[in-house]
Amino acid sequence: MSTCPECDGEVTVASDALAGEIVVCPDCQAELEIIALGPVELALAPEVEEDWGE
Ligand SMILES: [Zn+2]
Repeated sequence: MSTCPECDGEVTVASDALAGEIVVCPDCQAELEIIALGPVELALAPEVEEDWGE
């Protein structure tokens, strides 16, 4: 079990997940990239769109 960096919700990462995989937080729907394994570290995945439009 890992923690969502966006909402601190619990995110389940498959035991056979690979670094670089994207998982979606079940609580806030944020896309999270697995940046490290053992222990799992999650980071917000970069948006695909280029216009962030503040
Ligand atoms: Zn979340």
